[in-house]
Amino acid sequence: MTVTDLLSYDDALAAYDPVMGLEVHVELGTATKMFCGCATEPGAEPNSQVCPTCLGLPGSLPVVNATAVESAVKIGLALNCEIAEWCRFARKNYFYPDMPKNFQTSQYDEPIAFNGYLDVQLEDGEVFRVHIERAHMEEDTGKSTHVGGATGRIHGATYSLLDYNRAGIPLIEIVTKPIEGAGERAPEVAKAYVAELRELIRALGVSEARMERGQMRCDVNLSLRPRGERAFGTRSETKNVNSLRSVERAARFEIQRHAAVLSSGGTIVQETRHFHEEDGSTTSGRVKEEAEDYRYFPEPDLVPVAPARDWVEELRGGLPELPRLRRGRLQEEWGISDHEMQSVLNAGAIDLIVATIEAGADAASARKWWMGELARHANEAGVELAEVAITPAQVARVSALVAAGDLNDKLARQVIEGVLAGEGDPDAVVERRGLKVVSDDSALGAAVDQAIADNAAIADKIRGGNLAAAGALIGAVMKLTRGQADARRVRELVLDKLGVQG
Ligand code: ADP
Ligand code: MG
Ligand code: ZN
Repeated sequence: MTVTDLLSYDDALAAYDPVMGLEVHVELGTATKMFCGCATEPGAEPNSQVCPTCLGLPGSLPVVNATAVESAVKIGLALNCEIAEWCRFARKNYFYPDMPKNFQTSQYDEPIAFNGYLDVQLEDGEVFRVHIERAHMEEDTGKSTHVGGATGRIHGATYSLLDYNRAGIPLIEIVTKPIEGAGERAPEVAKAYVAELRELIRALGVSEARMERGQMRCDVNLSLRPRGERAFGTRSETKNVNSLRSVERAARFEIQRHAAVLSSGGTIVQETRHFHEEDGSTTSGRVKEEAEDYRYFPEPDLVPVAPARDWVEELRGGLPELPRLRRGRLQEEWGISDHEMQSVLNAGAIDLIVATIEAGADAASARKWWMGELARHANEAGVELAEVAITPAQVARVSALVAAGDLNDKLARQVIEGVLAGEGDPDAVVERRGLKVVSDDSALGAAVDQAIADNAAIADKIRGGNLAAAGALIGAVMKLTRGQADARRVRELVLDKLGVQG
């Protein structure tokens, strides 16, 4: 890989002002494809979910998927867009082996949604408004696998495999207007925007928007202009960036690369670029086609889409509470700081905590378990929090056992460990491992006597009125009972036996 000259981030920002454009593709979670009835189930045998239409065979005719249109309108409404009264599909003509029709059915100058915005919250709590140019419907291509080369790219490969199962899966492409005024926070804004958009898509229930599965991918357009200048510089377009972190890194890298080129008197070529996860760099792809190269023309085989106004209003009325507002409401209900809420969001814990509270836990303990013990476990296992093998109902049950005094925190952690290890529900783990808090005086009394006998000097201090020393005796009792004693009761018994008032 060639080494790219970079200017330091601070020097780049001192001289230049970044302008960004983000194009996000979202694969809709519809049961069937955009223009045919083929299934979209992931993981199927290659080329098993295809038909004459999505293979582009002569004489086949497309039909628009109504659910996909509904999803597109919902996304447009949630992004505060205007919804077209009438719009058409267009053919975007180019050749690529994974696109069997030799054109992609997309929308060109008549997108279904346009002129919107999305407010995103930055780490310091400030809200930044990103303006939306358009959201349009299109279809995905098939998938090529290039075999035999070192890089997985076509260059150097000995042969390629084509799977058309993905060809024709509905996509919504959401394009921002140029994002100006973010300054040194441009990479953070890019990441926050994609994160917010992902939350929104999930809240609408139109896609799982899992970036690691390619259900949501982002192209990062970036240009620099000298500070104080109005005219935009030439942009580069880093394609298919597949994680939130990568979106931020790609923007940052391109800022530093453009600045190095421009400050040494060079010019930026308009081109697509590839992002490399390993080191956060980008390398040159292909020189960008202009729109006219695609010979767009209206799709003659599809009728125009004309969403009825009352239907659009009905969809607007049915929109769920939007994620940023919901987060604000939950943060207030839970009584936590901006920073704590941000951590909950980053951990992917919001819905889990909500479900745990719905199952009967109080907010503080629901948050404590998910953000503590369980987050640590997910981290160690390298999985998402939601994939950890415990349900919100089980966490709520553990929390109820603690609240009732049947478990202390230490025992509760062991119960959780048991549930995660597949030993069954919390009650079953308590039963099997014998993990109940012992508060029965006859059982505890013997342990307290033993602890007093073992720690005569400490016992004398307590008798002499030094109540702070009681902690050491309680600790000794906990050890003797392997953590199962009810600490509050132990304290009472200790003081009682030593004849001092608590
Ligand atoms: P294309 O289809 O060629 O990628 P689009 O206009 O659909 O072009 O998308 C380009 C994206 O880049 C949009 O988000 C747009 O706002 C943004 N953009 C346009 N010009 C610039 C520029 N000079 N610098 C940064 N971003 C730009
Ligand atoms: Mg583009
Ligand atoms: Zn098909």
